[in-house]
Amino acid sequence: MPLQGTRLEVNLAALEHNFHYLKSKLQSGVKFMAVVKANAYGHGAVAIAHRLQELDVDYFAVAYVSEAVELRDNGIKKPILVLHAQAFTLNTCIERCIEPVIYSIEMLDAFIAIAQDKQQSAYPIHLEFNTGLNRIGIDFKDIDEVISKVTSNSSIKVRGLQSHLAASEDLNELDFTNSQIELFKEINARLEKALPYPFLKHESNTSGILNYKDAHFSMVRSGIGLYGFGNDHTFDKQLKPVASLKSVISQTRWIEAGESVSYNRKFIAQKRTQYAVIALGHGDGINRIYGYGKAQVSINGKLAPTLGIICMDMFMVDITNIDCYVGDEVIIFNQEFTAREMAEKAGTISYEILTGIQKRVPRIYFN
Ligand SMILES: *Cc1c(COP(=O)(O)O)cnc(C)c1O
Repeated sequence: MPLQGTRLEVNLAALEHNFHYLKSKLQSGVKFMAVVKANAYGHGAVAIAHRLQELDVDYFAVAYVSEAVELRDNGIKKPILVLHAQAFTLNTCIERCIEPVIYSIEMLDAFIAIAQDKQQSAYPIHLEFNTGLNRIGIDFKDIDEVISKVTSNSSIKVRGLQSHLAASEDLNELDFTNSQIELFKEINARLEKALPYPFLKHESNTSGILNYKDAHFSMVRSGIGLYGFGNDHTFDKQLKPVASLKSVISQTRWIEAGESVSYNRKFIAQKRTQYAVIALGHGDGINRIYGYGKAQVSINGKLAPTLGIICMDMFMVDITNIDCYVGDEVIIFNQEFTAREMAEKAGTISYEILTGIQKRVPRIYFN
């Protein structure tokens, strides 16, 4: 019987390689913020953040305050930015030395009130402006109001100015992205004129780093690149996927033509077929979109397509032409059969499959 079960193997040497590669794209002095939200895109936020802290990354970013608290509780000392802070979590930011992104005037007012209440002086915040993504952010038309609030309240201080690109990975949107960069420069100029101190400026995610040198400003925010994907095949060659998802065969069986596999009989064998059961399912993050042959796994060097519906704890693959047995290793993705290829074949993106890997799958770290 197999000695190892389903696991996500996380290669910290690959993480280090990607970090150095991405940094090599920056001018000296540009700071690097590592985005470790959503459990470091599924890789395990604490372990990933620790390795990056050892590598002397400048900043961390998470989406929610609870994620930042987890890092603080586990020994992460570097500055942490919360990209999507919420009103009910602003108190905790100050208590745990976490920097919030302020993305509306109401939120600025609320944060100033809390900072005053806690007798803070120059508590660092980042202001996010909407330059065209139309997600969160302050509108450009409100800049004067923001400036007057910021300059008249000593309890807070602008540590950073932020915006987010809508289509940095899509070079068909070059003009739109350049217009976002231009607007960001204008906001920046207005703030620089109004504030008596310097502050960080950051607008680029991974694809911004790789595609828009002009958008690096004084700091970049990279997530997917650290984990080995550049949203582009040429960059993917330079980056190394960090995670490999592996499982094992639990059972095999031959069925005759006309017999079905899995729930609701969505796969009917056209001929005598052998299938293997893999110890992984949608409860682990292998979404049902990967059923019906939309994904293939690698067993003993050969590709086996999924059969029928993905179950919660297992799925079946066709091994009619593969010599394999119970306990054999199954590769769902690794550096060769990448998460990106798997995701794109099923109509989604590497981000989604990686962040979807559930807690039930143990993370195994190695160098
Ligand atoms: C998630 C996120 C990032 C990281 O994007 P990648 O494409 O993974 O590099 C950067 N900035 C913001 C605001 C984000 O939400």
